[in-house]
Amino acid sequence: MFSKIVILDGYTDEPAGLGVPPYINTYPRLIAGAVWLVDKNIDVRYWTIDDARRLMDEFLHEAKTSDLVVFIAGSEVPGRYIGGRPISFNELYNIASLLHDRNKILVGPAARYGFGHGGGRRAYSRREFRGLFTDIVYGDVEIYLYDLLRYGWEKAEPWRLREDYRLTDKAFRYGAKIIIQHPNYGWNLIVEIETYRGCTRWISGGCSFCIEPRYGRPLMRSITSIVEEIGELYRWGARHFRLGKQPDILAYMARGVGEDEYPKPDPEALEKLFYGIRTAAPGLRTLHIDNVNPGTIIHHIEESIRALKFIVKYHTPGDVAALGVESFDPEVIKRNNLKTMPDETIRVVEIINRIGGIRGWNGLPHLLPGINLLYGLPGESRETYRINYDYLKKILDRGYMVRRINIRKVAVLENTPLWMHRNTVKHLLRKHNRLYEYYRVKIMDRIDRRMMERILPPGTLHRYLYVEKHVDTYSIARFPGSYPVVVKIPVKIPLRKIVDARIRSVSAKSVIGLPS
Ligand code: SF4
Repeated sequence: MFSKIVILDGYTDEPAGLGVPPYINTYPRLIAGAVWLVDKNIDVRYWTIDDARRLMDEFLHEAKTSDLVVFIAGSEVPGRYIGGRPISFNELYNIASLLHDRNKILVGPAARYGFGHGGGRRAYSRREFRGLFTDIVYGDVEIYLYDLLRYGWEKAEPWRLREDYRLTDKAFRYGAKIIIQHPNYGWNLIVEIETYRGCTRWISGGCSFCIEPRYGRPLMRSITSIVEEIGELYRWGARHFRLGKQPDILAYMARGVGEDEYPKPDPEALEKLFYGIRTAAPGLRTLHIDNVNPGTIIHHIEESIRALKFIVKYHTPGDVAALGVESFDPEVIKRNNLKTMPDETIRVVEIINRIGGIRGWNGLPHLLPGINLLYGLPGESRETYRINYDYLKKILDRGYMVRRINIRKVAVLENTPLWMHRNTVKHLLRKHNRLYEYYRVKIMDRIDRRMMERILPPGTLHRYLYVEKHVDTYSIARFPGSYPVVVKIPVKIPLRKIVDARIRSVSAKSVIGLPS
């Protein structure tokens, strides 16, 4: 019944999980894996939206000669990317319309939460796609496809969520091979790894804006299954990994999930996981993490310190623990059920600096905190902007390093508590728009730039940078990993080369380096 399936990856960016090149997210691997689990002879073709834009006729021809086109979409927390441009609502609509006589399904965050298109704006509801797709799969794609291929359209349930990882783990292993079709394969491709799903704070409702608690009780993958998947990916050539698809790496296998919104980290479980990965992929070049809940560190300082030390022991340098701080304003923190009070956040920054501040072989500190700030949340006032700035300044004045301060307007997604307050959000963002711009620039000028001087001081040799782009007379190169620093090299170096650069000067968001 199915002999050829086309995947169009429109890229995904969620609070937990990134799928914009050089990253490949879990969705394409699960789709291919579920298909090959049922029949390994089915031809699965993977296209990124950037390649489809470039070669639209070829893509359409391929899609029209297939039995099913799977659209992956949903940049729920979109930013600006060097590696690719996510599919827009209009593109999705137009491409799906051109394939009106084909079976098509939509998967990913856009299918589950609507199509986000930038902070400060309401996402398009998934109802707006009705009629365009054969099915909108807002459950788990591997279950849906497995049932579709085995039992037909009537039995495939687009709403079904996994209750355990049995089928998913198999699909991850079978689908590992799809990475060889990715345009970044063989150079800076980073594979996003899932360790669990759901937020441990779902018992208190979680943060007002967040989609993760809507999964309910977190489901953990076993250490063995993660290590086996990485072993399989490694066998197919993956060399860069990020354990990024979970809201808090310290909560992996934590004790007290379901009883405490901040369960106690299990440092030994994390050590086993990282050790297992190093054994399964001995020649890996990148092993990074992403989100860390500052609340976990504050509630369990001793266990968190041990866990962070294990991470630093086994990971690769240049790593970032992205802290979902969201605000330093106590009123906003309370009204939105956020995680840590301002002084607690400073303590967390201090702890991570102490453990991860040592410089590694590539010239970057081992592990630094990142800080995410969100604007437009209920409770925000003009004061919020000043308070946030003052606390960032305090962090700077105390001599700590923060790899990146990510400032965004909140995106209001369906099925979150914030959805009920969408008019308030709209009003706040409109009212504070000039303040937002003013402080964004001020933070860049007075904080980011100074931080960058500490992270990569002039004279540092920053090693192992992939040349990704040419912009004017510069080559743009980055280390493959979590929130890499953009290095501008003032000469044209062939794309895809790996170079080392001696840092000459820094600015807020990038550095200038000379090839060394
Ligand atoms: S802690 Fe808050 S932001 Fe992080 S996953 Fe949970 S609900 Fe979302």
